[in-house]
Amino acid sequence: MSTGGDRIAAPGTEEADWAAWLPGTDWPVWTPDPAWSRVAVCAAHPDDEVLGAGGALARLAAAGVQLDLVAVTDGEGSHPGSTVLTPAELAYARVAETEHALAALGVSARVVRLGLPDSGLAAREAELTRRLADAVARCDAVLAPWSGDAHPDHEAVGRAALTAGRTAGVPVWQYPVWAWHWATPGDPRVPWHTAHRVPLSPREQAAKRAAVACFLTQVRALGPGAGDRAVLPPDVLAHFDRDSEVLFR
Ligand SMILES: [Zn+2]
Repeated sequence: MSTGGDRIAAPGTEEADWAAWLPGTDWPVWTPDPAWSRVAVCAAHPDDEVLGAGGALARLAAAGVQLDLVAVTDGEGSHPGSTVLTPAELAYARVAETEHALAALGVSARVVRLGLPDSGLAAREAELTRRLADAVARCDAVLAPWSGDAHPDHEAVGRAALTAGRTAGVPVWQYPVWAWHWATPGDPRVPWHTAHRVPLSPREQAAKRAAVACFLTQVRALGPGAGDRAVLPPDVLAHFDRDSEVLFR
């Protein structure tokens, strides 16, 4: 997930605050429809799908559901000030990291790479919506970033997925990523009334942890320079090491 936006740059909510609040929520449990045979998983950047819904993906794959990963960008914009990796080298690395992460989840996805520009999706939204419509037309459900996640790319993919899903008559489930950083428990900017809880088994949680660790260009500093800092430092990663996920519908 490339960074962008004031809410993302600002200091975030500590995981301990979420850990104290989440168990008291009474959201329905997300249960994949046994009739689903193919689900489209949309990601703005390589790692969004694993951070936001890696446990859900592992569950779907274990149930024999075919997953189509629609990778909208290759994530070349995560370190614009890097003195270590060029954007092309970052993209190459991040695509490979996604392959390793999916394998860690037990997911054998058909990957469709749209090759749209990292950090430039809002300006390409009409094209993005058309291409997602093609990708979701043969699917029974869609997973996509939350359209209110504060990262402009996440929001563009979320909106495009909602439009594509509505047109195709396919349900769209949205996963928050950066919201766990900038929002607070009970935050009125978040549609908690549409939230569903995805409890993860110890096995699913372990698989997700292993998958997240595959994104080396994001979880570790590329080098000592200010432009090479980890995009996902430990305080952010803590939000994705829980025993549950949340999907909005
Ligand atoms: Zn992202």
